[in-house]
Amino acid sequence: MLSKFIVKVGKNCVACGACENVCPREAIKVKNGIKSVVDINLCVGCGLCANICPAGIIERVERIKND
Ligand code: SF4
Ligand code: SF4
Repeated sequence: MLSKFIVKVGKNCVACGACENVCPREAIKVKNGIKSVVDINLCVGCGLCANICPAGIIERVERIKND
């Protein structure tokens, strides 16, 4: 079952990799050394990445159902 929450990455990611390192699901990755991208199919909305992000740009939001 999909989690109720996911996370979204805002602007000004500094590509530090902290979120990638803390994620227990390998759901968030720095792409091309520029910006983190979330795979919402893997994300369980635990918020660990949001807590550790030094830029404070990861937001926990409700997952919107598309079906
Ligand atoms: S909320 Fe949890 S599962 Fe989702 S990307 Fe962040 S650390 Fe990974
Ligand atoms: S922890 Fe924050 S600043 Fe660092 S890579 Fe992840 S989203 Fe970007």
